[in-house]
Amino acid sequence: MTGEPLLEARGLTWEISGRKIIEGIEISVGQGETVALVGPNGAGKTTLLKKIALLEEVTAGEIYLQGEKISWRDISARRRLALVLQEPVFFTGSVYYNLQLPLRLRRAAAGEIRAKVENWAERFGISHLLPRDARHLSGGEARKVALIRALIGEPLVLLLDEPFTGLDFSARRELMALLREIKKEGVGILYTTHHLPEVLPLADRAVVMMAGRIVQTGPPVEIVRYPVPEFAPMVADALFFLPEGDGV
Ligand code: ADP
Ligand code: MG
Repeated sequence: MTGEPLLEARGLTWEISGRKIIEGIEISVGQGETVALVGPNGAGKTTLLKKIALLEEVTAGEIYLQGEKISWRDISARRRLALVLQEPVFFTGSVYYNLQLPLRLRRAAAGEIRAKVENWAERFGISHLLPRDARHLSGGEARKVALIRALIGEPLVLLLDEPFTGLDFSARRELMALLREIKKEGVGILYTTHHLPEVLPLADRAVVMMAGRIVQTGPPVEIVRYPVPEFAPMVADALFFLPEGDGV
């Protein structure tokens, strides 16, 4: 299900020490749409995600949320965009403490906070982790807790940096299933990956980024079948490692 763009970036450019790290980026995410930002390490994917999440200023370009221009000073816009970094950082304390914090900051009522945290934990199968120390979780557990922490404030758009990196096959599959559920609720998802097999099973649309620029956009199958020349070597490498019959 895709609709009007929820989120749109126009001409995003960021330059530091005379070097353009990202340049002229045009990207959009619709309601209930999942977009994969794919490209090799160093392409500028994490940088772009942080700029879109309004964590840092850009040199040029604009970001629109539901058609309204937003800027990095805009706290209420920031709350409607949830960023999950590759290595989540938790506060000292339990998983429950970390999950209730975003709601407490929004001054939600105590009963509502408890109900929401418990519901999300149950949905993600991590109820048993609520009393545990948030800084001593496995990679897969930490990824789920970070995702709940991002979702609990009911963002319009979820921005995920390399959400599957470092997870084993079953944790990866479980996370993909959870993200498909989130998508059904209308949340727009933009996630980065340097690994092509993480694009095909989840994304409605793929955006290929290389050396700070977008070089191709299209349905995942199309970018694999008809890659632009600069992306073709990466596709060839990925196909070499794909098991037979993986749907490509
Ligand atoms: P990706 O996530 O695609 O691997 P990054 O966004 O992390 O790429 O980095 C893109 C490029 O920008 C890299 O060459 C990186 O060294 C550079 N870069 C990122 N942040 C900064 C910064 N604050 N100062 C200078 N260079 C940076
Ligand atoms: Mg990165």
